[in-house]
Amino acid sequence: MCIFCKIIAGEIPNKTILEDENFLAFEDINPSANIHALIIPKVHIQSFNEMTPNIMANMTTFIQEVALTLGVKSDGYRLITNIGTNGGQEVEHIHFHMLAGEKLGPIYKK
Ligand code: AMP
Repeated sequence: MCIFCKIIAGEIPNKTILEDENFLAFEDINPSANIHALIIPKVHIQSFNEMTPNIMANMTTFIQEVALTLGVKSDGYRLITNIGTNGGQEVEHIHFHMLAGEKLGPIYKK
């Protein structure tokens, strides 16, 4: 079982921000911004490459609810999903990073 599936199963503790029957949002253990949430589907999907339009549609609504819950919707935030080796994906269970709570720097510099 992957580490995020263990979090969903309650085998590893997490700081939950929002949860419904299909998705979970929780605090990143090693934050890269003042607010750093991870948003995952409860079904195991390896990466965005394996995502389905139906799950993505429902996840869109959930992500918007997370932004509301965190109070960052109007000030803004950044969503990132890393994919595979070159994308820097470390946990092979699709997750969106929501970074917020400060003015973020440029997304990428060579
Ligand atoms: P990525 O590099 O896109 O795969 O991101 C994985 C993220 O998961 C990193 O930001 C880690 O800090 C985070 N992470 C790993 N283990 C945990 C955990 N047990 N609880 C919360 N966040 C975690």
